[in-house]
Amino acid sequence: MPELPEVETVRIGLSELLPGRIFSAVTHDTDKSFPNAPADVNAFLIGSSVTAVRRRAKVLLIELSSNYSLVIHLKMTGQLVFVGKANEGNEERRVKNVEKRPSSSFGVLHSNPDEVRFGAGHPNDSLVNKLPDKSTRVEFTFTDGGKLFFNDQRKFGWVKLLPTTEVPNIDFMKKVGPEPLAAEFTSSEFAGRFERRKNTTIKAAILDQTVVAGVGNIYADESLWGAKIHPSTLVKDISKAQFSRLFTELQYVLNLAIQKGGSSNHTYVNAEGKKGSYMDFARVFRREGLPCPRCGARLVKLRVAGRGTHICPKEQKLA
Ligand SMILES: [Zn+2]
Repeated sequence: MPELPEVETVRIGLSELLPGRIFSAVTHDTDKSFPNAPADVNAFLIGSSVTAVRRRAKVLLIELSSNYSLVIHLKMTGQLVFVGKANEGNEERRVKNVEKRPSSSFGVLHSNPDEVRFGAGHPNDSLVNKLPDKSTRVEFTFTDGGKLFFNDQRKFGWVKLLPTTEVPNIDFMKKVGPEPLAAEFTSSEFAGRFERRKNTTIKAAILDQTVVAGVGNIYADESLWGAKIHPSTLVKDISKAQFSRLFTELQYVLNLAIQKGGSSNHTYVNAEGKKGSYMDFARVFRREGLPCPRCGARLVKLRVAGRGTHICPKEQKLA
């Protein structure tokens, strides 16, 4: 499932390509993927331009000049792919910005004088295939001929058109915890978020989206290993110093994964057709039986909070 770093990868790429573009048409297959009234679509999407691309937890927000937003949840297998021309004046600047980064940090990206293509999210061949294909659920067209495809094999994801002022009031937004990478989010606030889960294990608590937003199984294991905390430790037994270390480690692994373009354990195909792995940075996740990169002990796999959990048994001990 795309997690915070994958969705952030989508946001970074689209925020350099979409702003200023005007929607001219949209088609979709199932209403489940695009549950919006045609009258709203005509009034608030068609003819509107993109003003910003934001993210909250794992939800992507494309803000429009009509004061509506496209709220997009990729769920299990969602991905977004932009294909468009790169021939406008300010387009050149956008392409240059994008080219500064290696394509591995962007999922899939290639650009030439005639076309820019960017795709990220669930890593499969639709990122590089000719689109639309059989996984395409929604196809947006811009007035300059550019296209944005929402592909979703398993159809759990969705694209909703909502007034921008209503977005913070949707149920998910009201419940979700703070962004772990927000500049104003401090280590002591981070520790404070766990007060509500004092009697559960730290692993269960850190995966709880109401505690902090967007932390999935990979980042939980990687950050607990980094902080040398056993995942079964009860929250009430974790010291202030440990929380502080965990916070630092969590930010480190999330930032690293964003740099690498996400962490999906599937292989991805880049623009040159080469396969790579987003998991190269993992130090403990799915590495059971291999030596701990810090102390050399054999890493083991446990089950904690109902999830496969990876630890160094020598350095992550239960008190
Ligand atoms: Zn170790």
